[in-house]
Amino acid sequence: MSDVNGTYDVCIIGGGITGTALAYSLCKLGETSVAVFEKSYLSSGSTGRCGGGIRQQWSTKNNVRLAMRSVKLFENFEEDVGMDIEYYQGGYLMLSYDEEEAEQFEKNVEIQREEGLDVEILTPKQVSERYPYINTQDLIVATFCQTDGHANPHKAVIGYAQAAKRMGADIYTHTEVLGVDVENGKVVGIQTTRGYFKCNVVVNASGPWSRQVAELAGVELPTESYRHQIFVTEPLENFFPMMAISFAGNFYMRQAHHGQFIMGQGDKDEKPGINYNVTFKFEKELAEKMVGIFPFLKNLRIMRHWSGMYNMSPDAQPIIGQSDKVKGYFYAVGYSGHGFMVAPAVSEALSELIVFGKTLHTDVSYLNVDRFSNEDVEKEKNVV
Ligand SMILES: Cc1cc2nc3c(=O)[nH]c(=O)nc-3n(C[C@H](O)[C@H](O)[C@H](O)COP(=O)(O)OP(=O)(O)OC[C@H]3O[C@@H](n4cnc5c(N)ncnc54)[C@H](O)[C@@H]3O)c2cc1C
Repeated sequence: MSDVNGTYDVCIIGGGITGTALAYSLCKLGETSVAVFEKSYLSSGSTGRCGGGIRQQWSTKNNVRLAMRSVKLFENFEEDVGMDIEYYQGGYLMLSYDEEEAEQFEKNVEIQREEGLDVEILTPKQVSERYPYINTQDLIVATFCQTDGHANPHKAVIGYAQAAKRMGADIYTHTEVLGVDVENGKVVGIQTTRGYFKCNVVVNASGPWSRQVAELAGVELPTESYRHQIFVTEPLENFFPMMAISFAGNFYMRQAHHGQFIMGQGDKDEKPGINYNVTFKFEKELAEKMVGIFPFLKNLRIMRHWSGMYNMSPDAQPIIGQSDKVKGYFYAVGYSGHGFMVAPAVSEALSELIVFGKTLHTDVSYLNVDRFSNEDVEKEKNVV
Protein backbone atom coordinates (compact mmCIF):
# COMPACT_ATOMS: atom_id res chain seq x y z
CA MET A 1 0.00 0.00 0.00
CA SER A 2 1.35 3.46 -0.91
CA ASP A 3 1.21 6.48 1.47
CA VAL A 4 -2.22 7.32 2.78
CA ASN A 5 -3.43 10.63 1.34
CA GLY A 6 -6.58 10.83 3.39
CA THR A 7 -9.16 8.93 5.42
CA TYR A 8 -12.92 9.16 4.95
CA ASP A 9 -15.89 7.23 6.21
CA VAL A 10 -17.38 7.18 2.71
CA CYS A 11 -15.62 7.33 -0.68
CA ILE A 12 -17.95 7.79 -3.66
CA ILE A 13 -16.77 6.81 -7.14
CA GLY A 14 -18.36 9.11 -9.74
CA GLY A 15 -19.19 12.81 -9.89
CA GLY A 16 -22.48 12.66 -11.75
CA ILE A 17 -25.92 13.30 -10.29
CA THR A 18 -25.78 10.14 -8.13
CA GLY A 19 -22.37 10.77 -6.59
CA THR A 20 -22.92 14.45 -5.86
CA ALA A 21 -26.51 14.00 -4.62
CA LEU A 22 -25.32 11.21 -2.36
CA ALA A 23 -22.50 13.37 -0.92
CA TYR A 24 -25.10 16.06 -0.24
CA SER A 25 -27.59 13.61 1.36
CA LEU A 26 -24.90 12.07 3.58
CA CYS A 27 -23.75 15.50 4.77
CA LYS A 28 -27.36 16.44 5.54
CA LEU A 29 -27.53 13.40 7.81
CA GLY A 30 -24.39 14.60 9.58
CA GLU A 31 -22.03 12.18 7.82
CA THR A 32 -19.52 14.73 6.52
CA SER A 33 -16.47 12.48 6.27
CA VAL A 34 -17.24 12.00 2.58
CA ALA A 35 -15.24 12.34 -0.63
CA VAL A 36 -16.34 12.13 -4.26
CA PHE A 37 -13.77 10.92 -6.81
CA GLU A 38 -14.45 11.87 -10.41
CA LYS A 39 -12.04 10.80 -13.14
CA SER A 40 -12.96 13.75 -15.39
CA TYR A 41 -14.98 16.91 -14.63
CA LEU A 42 -18.26 16.93 -12.69
CA SER A 43 -21.22 15.81 -14.83
CA SER A 44 -18.92 14.60 -17.63
CA GLY A 45 -20.66 11.20 -17.67
CA SER A 46 -24.27 10.47 -18.60
CA THR A 47 -25.68 13.23 -16.43
CA GLY A 48 -24.20 16.09 -18.44
CA ARG A 49 -25.34 14.41 -21.67
CA CYS A 50 -28.93 13.64 -20.69
CA GLY A 51 -32.29 15.12 -21.65
CA GLY A 52 -33.05 16.44 -18.16
CA GLY A 53 -36.56 14.94 -18.09
CA ILE A 54 -38.20 14.24 -14.72
CA ARG A 55 -41.33 12.12 -14.74
CA GLN A 56 -43.46 10.06 -12.41
CA GLN A 57 -45.46 8.14 -15.03
CA TRP A 58 -44.04 4.64 -14.58
CA SER A 59 -45.53 1.19 -14.97
CA THR A 60 -44.84 -0.24 -11.48
CA LYS A 61 -46.04 1.14 -8.18
CA ASN A 62 -42.54 1.10 -6.66
CA ASN A 63 -41.10 3.14 -9.52
CA VAL A 64 -43.99 5.60 -9.30
CA ARG A 65 -43.29 6.03 -5.56
CA LEU A 66 -39.56 6.52 -6.10
CA ALA A 67 -40.18 9.10 -8.82
CA MET A 68 -42.80 10.93 -6.75
CA ARG A 69 -40.34 11.24 -3.87
CA SER A 70 -37.73 12.56 -6.29
CA VAL A 71 -40.14 15.19 -7.56
CA LYS A 72 -40.72 16.35 -3.97
CA LEU A 73 -36.95 16.78 -3.63
CA PHE A 74 -36.69 18.61 -6.98
CA GLU A 75 -39.54 20.91 -5.94
CA ASN A 76 -37.51 21.96 -2.89
CA PHE A 77 -34.13 21.90 -4.66
CA GLU A 78 -33.58 25.64 -4.86
CA GLU A 79 -34.45 26.19 -1.22
CA ASP A 80 -32.66 23.11 0.17
CA VAL A 81 -29.61 22.89 -2.08
CA GLY A 82 -29.30 26.57 -2.90
CA MET A 83 -29.24 26.62 -6.70
CA ASP A 84 -31.73 27.49 -9.44
CA ILE A 85 -31.54 24.46 -11.76
CA GLU A 86 -34.17 25.68 -14.28
CA TYR A 87 -36.60 23.17 -12.77
CA TYR A 88 -39.92 23.50 -14.56
CA GLN A 89 -43.05 21.41 -14.02
CA GLY A 90 -44.45 21.74 -17.52
CA GLY A 91 -45.71 18.15 -17.53
CA TYR A 92 -44.95 15.03 -19.55
CA LEU A 93 -47.17 14.15 -22.51
CA MET A 94 -46.85 10.44 -23.26
CA LEU A 95 -48.05 9.56 -26.75
CA SER A 96 -49.00 6.04 -27.81
CA TYR A 97 -49.17 4.82 -31.41
CA ASP A 98 -49.59 1.13 -30.58
CA GLU A 99 -52.79 -0.70 -29.51
CA GLU A 100 -51.14 -2.98 -26.96
CA GLU A 101 -49.15 -0.12 -25.48
CA ALA A 102 -52.26 2.06 -25.32
CA GLU A 103 -53.95 -0.62 -23.17
CA GLN A 104 -50.86 -0.76 -20.98
CA PHE A 105 -50.98 3.06 -20.60
CA GLU A 106 -54.46 2.78 -19.13
CA LYS A 107 -53.27 0.13 -16.65
CA ASN A 108 -50.28 2.32 -15.76
CA VAL A 109 -52.56 5.27 -15.06
CA GLU A 110 -54.58 3.11 -12.65
CA ILE A 111 -51.39 2.27 -10.73
CA GLN A 112 -50.24 5.89 -10.82
CA ARG A 113 -53.58 7.18 -9.55
CA GLU A 114 -53.57 4.60 -6.74
CA GLU A 115 -50.28 6.16 -5.65
CA GLY A 116 -51.95 9.59 -5.60
CA LEU A 117 -50.49 10.91 -8.85
CA ASP A 118 -52.73 13.23 -10.84
CA VAL A 119 -52.63 11.87 -14.42
CA GLU A 120 -55.02 12.55 -17.32
CA ILE A 121 -55.88 10.24 -20.20
CA LEU A 122 -56.32 12.22 -23.43
CA THR A 123 -57.90 11.23 -26.73
CA PRO A 124 -56.18 12.34 -29.97
CA LYS A 125 -58.90 15.03 -30.33
CA GLN A 126 -58.15 16.38 -26.87
CA VAL A 127 -54.44 16.41 -27.67
CA SER A 128 -55.06 18.43 -30.89
CA GLU A 129 -57.31 20.88 -29.07
CA ARG A 130 -54.81 21.43 -26.30
CA TYR A 131 -51.67 21.37 -28.45
CA PRO A 132 -52.70 22.45 -31.99
CA TYR A 133 -49.02 22.44 -33.02
CA ILE A 134 -48.83 18.61 -32.68
CA ASN A 135 -49.83 16.40 -35.62
CA THR A 136 -51.94 13.64 -34.01
CA GLN A 137 -52.14 11.39 -37.05
CA ASP A 138 -51.92 7.70 -35.96
CA LEU A 139 -52.07 8.67 -32.29
CA ILE A 140 -54.20 6.25 -30.24
CA VAL A 141 -54.07 7.71 -26.77
CA ALA A 142 -51.97 10.05 -24.62
CA THR A 143 -51.46 10.54 -20.92
CA PHE A 144 -50.42 13.75 -19.22
CA CYS A 145 -49.09 14.54 -15.75
CA GLN A 146 -48.65 18.23 -14.99
CA THR A 147 -46.21 17.76 -12.10
CA ASP A 148 -43.68 15.98 -14.33
CA GLY A 149 -41.08 18.32 -15.82
CA HIS A 150 -37.45 18.92 -16.56
CA ALA A 151 -34.32 20.66 -15.24
CA ASN A 152 -30.76 21.48 -16.21
CA PRO A 153 -28.63 18.45 -15.25
CA HIS A 154 -25.28 20.32 -15.12
CA LYS A 155 -26.69 22.84 -12.69
CA ALA A 156 -28.15 20.07 -10.53
CA VAL A 157 -24.73 18.38 -10.23
CA ILE A 158 -22.94 21.63 -9.49
CA GLY A 159 -25.64 22.59 -6.97
CA TYR A 160 -25.31 19.30 -5.10
CA ALA A 161 -21.50 19.38 -5.21
CA GLN A 162 -21.27 22.93 -3.90
CA ALA A 163 -23.78 22.26 -1.12
CA ALA A 164 -21.93 19.08 -0.11
CA LYS A 165 -18.63 20.99 -0.05
CA ARG A 166 -20.14 23.71 2.13
CA MET A 167 -21.12 21.01 4.63
CA GLY A 168 -17.64 19.45 4.68
CA ALA A 169 -17.39 16.92 1.81
CA ASP A 170 -14.32 16.85 -0.43
CA ILE A 171 -14.67 16.58 -4.20
CA TYR A 172 -11.69 15.35 -6.20
CA THR A 173 -12.09 15.90 -9.94
CA HIS A 174 -9.67 14.49 -12.53
CA THR A 175 -8.99 11.67 -10.08
CA GLU A 176 -9.61 8.14 -11.26
CA VAL A 177 -10.26 5.27 -8.86
CA LEU A 178 -7.99 2.43 -9.96
CA GLY A 179 -8.60 -0.12 -7.22
CA VAL A 180 -10.76 -0.94 -4.23
CA ASP A 181 -9.01 -2.73 -1.36
CA VAL A 182 -10.94 -5.39 0.48
CA GLU A 183 -9.65 -7.14 3.60
CA ASN A 184 -11.48 -9.97 5.36
CA GLY A 185 -14.54 -9.36 3.19
CA LYS A 186 -14.69 -5.66 4.04
CA VAL A 187 -13.81 -2.46 2.16
CA VAL A 188 -10.73 -0.74 3.64
CA GLY A 189 -9.63 1.79 1.04
CA ILE A 190 -9.28 2.91 -2.57
CA GLN A 191 -6.33 3.45 -4.86
CA THR A 192 -6.57 6.51 -7.06
CA THR A 193 -4.45 8.55 -9.44
CA ARG A 194 -4.04 10.89 -6.46
CA GLY A 195 -2.83 8.15 -4.13
CA TYR A 196 -4.39 5.92 -1.49
CA PHE A 197 -7.42 6.80 0.66
CA LYS A 198 -8.63 4.73 3.60
CA CYS A 199 -12.37 4.34 4.09
CA ASN A 200 -15.09 2.13 5.56
CA VAL A 201 -17.60 2.50 2.77
CA VAL A 202 -17.20 2.71 -1.01
CA VAL A 203 -20.11 3.66 -3.25
CA ASN A 204 -20.14 2.76 -6.91
CA ALA A 205 -21.87 5.71 -8.63
CA SER A 206 -19.84 5.36 -11.79
CA GLY A 207 -22.70 5.27 -14.30
CA PRO A 208 -21.55 3.74 -17.61
CA TRP A 209 -18.52 2.13 -15.94
CA SER A 210 -20.53 0.47 -13.16
CA ARG A 211 -19.65 -3.13 -14.03
CA GLN A 212 -15.92 -2.45 -14.38
CA VAL A 213 -15.86 -0.39 -11.16
CA ALA A 214 -17.68 -3.21 -9.33
CA GLU A 215 -15.02 -5.64 -10.56
CA LEU A 216 -12.36 -3.51 -8.81
CA ALA A 217 -13.83 -4.87 -5.55
CA GLY A 218 -14.58 -8.33 -6.91
CA VAL A 219 -18.31 -7.53 -7.02
CA GLU A 220 -20.48 -8.60 -9.97
CA LEU A 221 -23.17 -6.28 -11.33
CA PRO A 222 -25.23 -7.29 -14.39
CA THR A 223 -25.07 -3.96 -16.21
CA GLU A 224 -24.16 -3.03 -19.79
CA SER A 225 -23.78 0.42 -21.32
CA TYR A 226 -25.34 1.40 -24.63
CA ARG A 227 -24.86 4.59 -26.63
CA HIS A 228 -27.78 6.99 -26.93
CA GLN A 229 -27.56 9.99 -29.22
CA ILE A 230 -29.32 13.30 -28.72
CA PHE A 231 -29.32 16.71 -30.44
CA VAL A 232 -30.41 20.26 -29.84
CA THR A 233 -31.81 22.81 -32.32
CA GLU A 234 -31.51 26.55 -32.54
CA PRO A 235 -33.99 28.32 -30.23
CA LEU A 236 -37.60 29.43 -30.75
CA GLU A 237 -39.54 31.62 -28.38
CA ASN A 238 -40.74 29.39 -25.51
CA PHE A 239 -44.19 27.88 -26.16
CA PHE A 240 -43.71 24.13 -25.59
CA PRO A 241 -43.93 23.54 -21.83
CA MET A 242 -43.85 19.76 -21.57
CA MET A 243 -41.63 16.84 -22.37
CA ALA A 244 -43.28 14.85 -25.19
CA ILE A 245 -42.34 11.18 -25.22
CA SER A 246 -43.36 8.01 -27.02
CA PHE A 247 -42.06 4.49 -26.41
CA ALA A 248 -43.67 2.91 -29.49
CA GLY A 249 -42.83 6.07 -31.50
CA ASN A 250 -39.32 5.95 -30.03
CA PHE A 251 -38.65 9.63 -29.25
CA TYR A 252 -38.60 12.28 -26.57
CA MET A 253 -38.42 16.05 -26.92
CA ARG A 254 -38.58 19.15 -24.78
CA GLN A 255 -37.91 22.85 -25.15
CA ALA A 256 -35.05 24.06 -22.97
CA HIS A 257 -35.07 27.16 -20.81
CA HIS A 258 -33.46 29.27 -23.57
CA GLY A 259 -35.78 28.00 -26.32
CA GLN A 260 -33.80 25.21 -27.98
CA PHE A 261 -35.48 21.85 -28.67
CA ILE A 262 -33.62 18.87 -27.23
CA MET A 263 -34.58 15.46 -28.62
CA GLY A 264 -33.47 11.87 -28.86
CA GLN A 265 -34.44 8.32 -29.71
CA GLY A 266 -33.16 4.82 -28.89
CA ASP A 267 -31.51 2.45 -31.36
CA LYS A 268 -32.20 -1.26 -30.83
CA ASP A 269 -29.19 -2.16 -33.00
CA GLU A 270 -26.68 -0.52 -30.65
CA LYS A 271 -24.01 -2.89 -29.34
CA PRO A 272 -22.94 -2.69 -25.68
CA GLY A 273 -19.78 -0.69 -24.96
CA ILE A 274 -18.63 2.88 -24.45
CA ASN A 275 -18.98 4.77 -27.71
CA TYR A 276 -19.28 8.55 -27.87
CA ASN A 277 -19.36 8.90 -31.67
CA VAL A 278 -22.38 10.41 -33.39
CA THR A 279 -23.92 9.40 -36.72
CA PHE A 280 -25.60 11.27 -39.55
CA LYS A 281 -28.10 8.38 -39.76
CA PHE A 282 -29.41 9.29 -36.32
CA GLU A 283 -29.78 12.98 -37.22
CA LYS A 284 -31.59 12.22 -40.45
CA GLU A 285 -33.95 9.57 -39.03
CA LEU A 286 -34.91 11.53 -35.94
CA ALA A 287 -35.27 14.87 -37.77
CA GLU A 288 -37.57 13.34 -40.41
CA LYS A 289 -39.76 11.64 -37.82
CA MET A 290 -39.97 14.65 -35.54
CA VAL A 291 -40.88 17.10 -38.31
CA GLY A 292 -43.82 14.81 -39.15
CA ILE A 293 -45.18 14.94 -35.60
CA PHE A 294 -44.06 18.47 -34.71
CA PRO A 295 -44.26 20.40 -38.02
CA PHE A 296 -43.02 23.65 -36.42
CA LEU A 297 -39.53 22.08 -36.28
CA LYS A 298 -39.31 22.03 -40.09
CA ASN A 299 -36.94 24.93 -40.70
CA LEU A 300 -35.01 24.76 -37.45
CA ARG A 301 -31.31 24.01 -37.68
CA ILE A 302 -29.59 21.40 -35.52
CA MET A 303 -26.95 23.20 -33.48
CA ARG A 304 -25.25 20.41 -31.56
CA HIS A 305 -25.40 16.64 -31.53
CA TRP A 306 -23.76 14.42 -28.93
CA SER A 307 -24.03 11.00 -27.36
CA GLY A 308 -24.06 9.49 -23.89
CA MET A 309 -24.53 6.11 -22.30
CA TYR A 310 -27.54 4.33 -20.87
CA ASN A 311 -26.24 1.98 -18.18
CA MET A 312 -28.80 -0.82 -18.61
CA SER A 313 -29.88 -3.47 -16.11
CA PRO A 314 -31.67 -6.68 -17.19
CA ASP A 315 -35.11 -5.34 -16.13
CA ALA A 316 -34.55 -1.68 -17.11
CA GLN A 317 -34.65 -0.56 -13.46
CA PRO A 318 -31.83 0.74 -11.28
CA ILE A 319 -29.70 -1.54 -9.11
CA ILE A 320 -29.36 -0.08 -5.63
CA GLY A 321 -28.07 -1.51 -2.39
CA GLN A 322 -25.15 -3.07 -0.60
CA SER A 323 -23.09 -6.05 -1.71
CA ASP A 324 -23.69 -9.12 0.43
CA LYS A 325 -20.19 -10.36 -0.45
CA VAL A 326 -18.13 -7.25 0.32
CA LYS A 327 -19.16 -5.39 3.46
CA GLY A 328 -19.18 -1.62 3.00
CA TYR A 329 -19.56 -1.79 -0.80
CA PHE A 330 -22.71 0.03 -2.00
CA TYR A 331 -23.96 0.81 -5.51
CA ALA A 332 -26.53 2.92 -7.33
CA VAL A 333 -26.20 2.00 -11.00
CA GLY A 334 -28.03 0.52 -14.01
CA TYR A 335 -30.60 3.31 -14.21
CA SER A 336 -31.42 2.31 -17.79
CA GLY A 337 -31.89 5.85 -19.06
CA HIS A 338 -33.75 7.49 -16.19
CA GLY A 339 -31.18 8.11 -13.51
CA PHE A 340 -31.28 11.88 -13.51
CA MET A 341 -34.92 12.00 -12.43
CA VAL A 342 -34.70 9.44 -9.63
CA ALA A 343 -31.21 10.27 -8.34
CA PRO A 344 -32.40 12.64 -5.58
CA ALA A 345 -34.65 9.96 -4.04
CA VAL A 346 -32.14 7.17 -4.68
CA SER A 347 -29.36 9.16 -3.03
CA GLU A 348 -31.53 10.01 -0.08
CA ALA A 349 -32.38 6.32 0.36
CA LEU A 350 -28.77 5.23 -0.06
CA SER A 351 -27.52 7.78 2.46
CA GLU A 352 -30.07 6.44 4.96
CA LEU A 353 -28.95 2.87 4.28
CA ILE A 354 -25.31 3.85 4.85
CA VAL A 355 -25.94 5.90 8.00
CA PHE A 356 -28.87 4.07 9.66
CA GLY A 357 -28.80 0.67 7.94
CA LYS A 358 -32.39 1.20 6.74
CA THR A 359 -34.34 3.60 4.54
CA LEU A 360 -36.64 6.18 6.11
CA HIS A 361 -38.38 7.75 3.10
CA THR A 362 -38.47 5.39 0.14
CA ASP A 363 -38.12 1.63 0.11
CA VAL A 364 -35.50 0.63 -2.46
CA SER A 365 -35.09 -2.99 -1.36
CA TYR A 366 -36.94 -4.09 -4.53
CA LEU A 367 -33.97 -2.70 -6.48
CA ASN A 368 -31.33 -4.88 -4.83
CA VAL A 369 -29.24 -6.97 -7.20
CA ASP A 370 -30.62 -10.17 -5.62
CA ARG A 371 -33.81 -9.72 -7.61
CA PHE A 372 -32.12 -11.14 -10.70
CA SER A 373 -31.97 -14.56 -9.08
CA ASN A 374 -35.78 -14.54 -9.22
CA GLU A 375 -37.19 -15.54 -12.61
CA ASP A 376 -40.34 -13.43 -12.21
CA VAL A 377 -38.57 -10.07 -12.34
CA GLU A 378 -41.11 -7.41 -13.36
CA LYS A 379 -39.67 -5.39 -16.26
CA GLU A 380 -40.26 -1.62 -16.39
CA LYS A 381 -42.15 -0.91 -19.63
CA ASN A 382 -41.95 2.88 -19.84
CA VAL A 383 -38.46 3.23 -21.31
CA VAL A 384 -37.27 4.79 -24.61
C1 LIG B 1 -28.93 10.78 -24.35
C2 LIG B 1 -29.41 10.52 -22.94
C3 LIG B 1 -30.61 11.07 -22.50
C4 LIG B 1 -31.05 10.83 -21.20
N1 LIG B 1 -32.19 11.45 -20.78
C5 LIG B 1 -32.58 11.32 -19.49
C6 LIG B 1 -33.70 12.03 -19.01
O1 LIG B 1 -34.35 12.80 -19.73
N2 LIG B 1 -34.05 11.87 -17.71
C7 LIG B 1 -33.35 11.03 -16.87
O2 LIG B 1 -33.73 10.89 -15.71
N3 LIG B 1 -32.27 10.35 -17.32
C8 LIG B 1 -31.86 10.47 -18.58
N4 LIG B 1 -30.76 9.81 -19.02
C9 LIG B 1 -30.07 8.89 -18.10
C10 LIG B 1 -29.20 9.67 -17.13
O3 LIG B 1 -28.31 10.51 -17.83
C11 LIG B 1 -28.38 8.73 -16.23
O4 LIG B 1 -29.19 7.68 -15.75
C12 LIG B 1 -27.82 9.48 -15.03
O5 LIG B 1 -27.21 10.67 -15.46
C13 LIG B 1 -26.83 8.62 -14.28
O6 LIG B 1 -26.15 9.44 -13.37
P1 LIG B 1 -24.92 8.88 -12.58
O7 LIG B 1 -24.43 9.96 -11.70
O8 LIG B 1 -25.30 7.60 -11.94
O9 LIG B 1 -23.85 8.53 -13.71
P2 LIG B 1 -22.92 9.51 -14.55
O10 LIG B 1 -23.53 10.84 -14.73
O11 LIG B 1 -22.50 8.77 -15.77
O12 LIG B 1 -21.68 9.72 -13.61
C14 LIG B 1 -20.75 8.69 -13.38
C15 LIG B 1 -19.39 9.33 -13.26
O13 LIG B 1 -18.47 8.36 -12.79
C16 LIG B 1 -17.20 8.71 -13.31
N5 LIG B 1 -16.34 7.53 -13.20
C17 LIG B 1 -16.50 6.34 -13.83
N6 LIG B 1 -15.51 5.49 -13.47
C18 LIG B 1 -14.73 6.16 -12.59
C19 LIG B 1 -13.55 5.84 -11.88
N7 LIG B 1 -12.97 4.63 -11.98
N8 LIG B 1 -12.99 6.77 -11.07
C20 LIG B 1 -13.57 8.01 -10.94
N9 LIG B 1 -14.68 8.37 -11.62
C21 LIG B 1 -15.25 7.47 -12.42
C22 LIG B 1 -17.51 9.12 -14.74
O14 LIG B 1 -16.50 9.92 -15.30
C23 LIG B 1 -18.84 9.84 -14.59
O15 LIG B 1 -18.70 11.24 -14.52
C24 LIG B 1 -30.30 10.01 -20.32
C25 LIG B 1 -29.07 9.48 -20.75
C26 LIG B 1 -28.62 9.73 -22.04
C27 LIG B 1 -27.30 9.18 -22.48
